[in-house]
Amino acid sequence: SRSNLAAIDAAHHLHPFADMKKLNADGARIIQRGQGVYIFDSNGKKYLDGFAGLWCVNIGYGRTEIADAAIRQMNELPYYNTFFGTTTTPVTLLSQKVCAHAGPHFNHVFFTNSGSEANDTWFRMARVYWSAIGQPAKKTVIARRNGYHGSTVAGASMGGMKYMHEQGDLPIPGVVHIGQPYWYGEGGDLSPEEFGLKVARELEEKIDELGEDNVAAFIAEPVQGAGGVIIPPSTYWPEIARICKARNILLVCDEVICGFGRLGSWFGYQHFGVEPDLAPIAKGLSSGYLPIGGVLVSDRIADVLINDVGEFNHGFTYSGHPVCAAAALENLRIIEDEQLIERVRDDIGPYFAKVWGGLADHEMVGEAVSIGLMGALQLAADKSTHRRFEKPDAIGSAVRNHALTNGLVLRATADRMLASPPLIISHDQVDEMVRITRLALDAVWADVRA
Ligand code: PLP
Repeated sequence: SRSNLAAIDAAHHLHPFADMKKLNADGARIIQRGQGVYIFDSNGKKYLDGFAGLWCVNIGYGRTEIADAAIRQMNELPYYNTFFGTTTTPVTLLSQKVCAHAGPHFNHVFFTNSGSEANDTWFRMARVYWSAIGQPAKKTVIARRNGYHGSTVAGASMGGMKYMHEQGDLPIPGVVHIGQPYWYGEGGDLSPEEFGLKVARELEEKIDELGEDNVAAFIAEPVQGAGGVIIPPSTYWPEIARICKARNILLVCDEVICGFGRLGSWFGYQHFGVEPDLAPIAKGLSSGYLPIGGVLVSDRIADVLINDVGEFNHGFTYSGHPVCAAAALENLRIIEDEQLIERVRDDIGPYFAKVWGGLADHEMVGEAVSIGLMGALQLAADKSTHRRFEKPDAIGSAVRNHALTNGLVLRATADRMLASPPLIISHDQVDEMVRITRLALDAVWADVRA
């Protein structure tokens, strides 16, 4: 029975990022089925998934074309590897298709199974690149406070989450952090544009402190996701790109969330008009239907890897898994044929901005922002002064739980509510999301004032 499954789960399954004692007492929620933007749990309760799983189910649930493509590939060749000079048809075709959308300076991709592995992969690749061109001291990576780059050792180190660093003695040597362009929380009296410049220039200060000859790369998400959907002021990315170029530091854009349409562009760097040297990808590459990730490698680095390094001693048994690649290829076909990127840019993204942005009139909302189909609400105890709640985690969880009870999945990062629905969401479903969110805000605000 259902409760039996929850009991088995409590007895045997260790969950990532969950309070296990509480989870075992409550029983895990068992998700059984998905269709479009909706998921259904084992009690038959329906939820609008305003988070697309973990920012990844871009084409929505239940697309049988993907299952069909995976089954065809599984029957023909369920597995072969890409080591020692072999490949399979879907993997090679996928490399071509991904590069076709990545811009003229990206012509190569290295496959992994996840975003975390993609980050560990470029971390080594960057050091191999600098060594190969005679600058082996260029090793340190500069990343950002509250960034998220995965749970592997290098990924969690480059991420800037304190609660992750506290477990396992991270970051590893050679990873340092600078600030994030979080204007609402940290901008003070500066305008967003002034603040964007100020935070970008922390990169230059950090390079000066470390010595340019010791720095390999700067990594950031085009829009910081797990850290709170922090949309950078317009001045931020051009200044970051200028500094990386002037100081000969590799620029790495973590496209694991922003890639494949989330911002209304194929990749987030295109939205912001910058050209990174490396770009980890995952999530939307397969819309989460099967695990696959990779690193986009620019010509500057690929040329050195191919012609000078020759052999990069790195790879995974499932680097370029043929079944995952076949699913990813079909996913990209759907994104292309249904013009989902253009839809986000020209239609549903602007509609979401209008309706979600309307939540800014709520007494408890300090800002309601979005970019493409990625949104955040900053909760505030006093919006006129930007005063925050004393227990930000409790207030965010309360809003999330109210929404969940009413059939909407949102995420809370402390006192910021995050949204990231499938790219296929309809106008009516956006209205439904915002209606349930407003109910949750009303309920929690009433509790706070009681
Ligand atoms: N990078 C970013 C920006 C992410 O949001 C994530 C996951 O949420 C990762 C990397 C890690 O990806 P994965 O969980 O597939 O290892």
